[in-house]
Amino acid sequence: IRIKLSLLTADGQLLEDLAEVARDAALLHGLLMRTRDAPNSSEVVGHAPFALFPSPVPKSLFLQALAAQPLFNRLVDRISRDPEFLENVLASTIKVDDFTARLFSIYRHVLQEGPKQSIVLGLNRSDYMVDQDRDGGMSLKQIEINTIAASFGGLTSQMPDVHRHILGVAERLEDQKKILDNNPAAGLAKGLAKAWELYGSERAVVMFLVEEIQRNIYDHRYIENELWKRNIPVIRRRFEEVFKTGSLDQEKRLFVGGKEVAIVYFRNGYMPQNYTEQSWEVRLMMERSLAIKCPDIGTHLAGTKKVQQELARPGVLESFFPNEPDAVDQIRATFAGQYTLDMGEEGDRTVAMALAEPDVFVLKPQREGGGNNIYGSEICQVLEAVKGGSERTAYILMDKIRPRPSHNYLLRPGEPLRLNACLSELGAFGAYVRHGKDMVMNECVGHLLRTKSVEYSDGGVAAGVAVLDNPLLV
Ligand code: ADP
Ligand code: MG
Ligand code: MG
Repeated sequence: IRIKLSLLTADGQLLEDLAEVARDAALLHGLLMRTRDAPNSSEVVGHAPFALFPSPVPKSLFLQALAAQPLFNRLVDRISRDPEFLENVLASTIKVDDFTARLFSIYRHVLQEGPKQSIVLGLNRSDYMVDQDRDGGMSLKQIEINTIAASFGGLTSQMPDVHRHILGVAERLEDQKKILDNNPAAGLAKGLAKAWELYGSERAVVMFLVEEIQRNIYDHRYIENELWKRNIPVIRRRFEEVFKTGSLDQEKRLFVGGKEVAIVYFRNGYMPQNYTEQSWEVRLMMERSLAIKCPDIGTHLAGTKKVQQELARPGVLESFFPNEPDAVDQIRATFAGQYTLDMGEEGDRTVAMALAEPDVFVLKPQREGGGNNIYGSEICQVLEAVKGGSERTAYILMDKIRPRPSHNYLLRPGEPLRLNACLSELGAFGAYVRHGKDMVMNECVGHLLRTKSVEYSDGGVAAGVAVLDNPLLV
């Protein structure tokens, strides 16, 4: 507290000094990102955006998020294997949302052909905010679960050391002791390694399916290098490269550039802009193959916002955990109110409710990657335009979570230091491997805290809005 006050009241010099120390610590600890100007080059790099100080997170809620993760892993896995459920839930969505429809047609195709691979690898991240009700009571509420290309498990593994150093220099030694160890990179790699072993071919590679522009490559490298340490070979390929050099053999083994692929690890392919017609062909080929897909197409679909909304309906969780009321309670406790916009009376009620009080909701399309949600008066504009027709079923409505702001300095290359009122979002990384009927790994492998200025209602680190952070348990 003492240091914090002096930092705030000084003429800015002390704080500037600390920020410089912090930026150097970030670089030295490998909290790296390629630059906007040279996003595909490692010749000049900068630091990833991060918070100068750790942000408060209530301890009991933090532990709640970690404890729930193995249950969310199982839930996602079960949904991915339930074609009837996915078909029913997504029926209205795929009529109006082309992207989900294309994913779904691949799902159907694979189902008809019969899945080739009985090894399933899930690497996901369930995200939460701490909601504060009128009486000051706090609860953990899930924002979403990312079942494809969930990122920052690599970079965030470096954050504990960065904050420990900063707090040391700032003479906040009590807080320094409270910085938690966190290494999702190792845990995600453990899942990949386990699945690779089960695939059972020493020469087969793990293929990271990567974006055209790879500013965030170091986040991948932390995971990749954990695999190399175990002598598991890794290749990185774009859709286009797989299109040109990829094929299936008679047993549907996937070969890319002459190498057999044991696992396709998607770090791309989660939004429409990632796909050309060729990429869609490639996605289908990979899904039909014997390679382990992380995620497979069913698991990808299990992470849609529409599925999330459906899970919040009474009785649905029970159907996935028929004899486990405690599991149901634990999962449901994290659900915010969510409402269907399907055609019919229930959907009509949702529209009326949103129009009456748009500020207490978020309108969400079936999109990933940040910056797609709709807030406030824009909810009215959008709903007025689509409310009478089936286009509205592309969205779901969700209660807006209202975390209590805290103050922090957000450090981005090229931006002046400024004290911000901030909101934080906590993520729990899940990793699981299923072999036929057996869950051979099911863990929470770490956490992520992202913090952003209250000015922004949406957007993650990659979108340039949030920064990496550490929880300071309170
Ligand atoms: P995406 O898949 O694009 O990341 P999210 O559901 O995570 O979609 O929404 C993006 C961002 O919008 C979140 O990181 C969070 O800041 C904000 N957000 C989403 N849902 C809510 C909500 N129910 N209440 C408050 N903020 C939300
Ligand atoms: Mg998402
Ligand atoms: Mg998100």
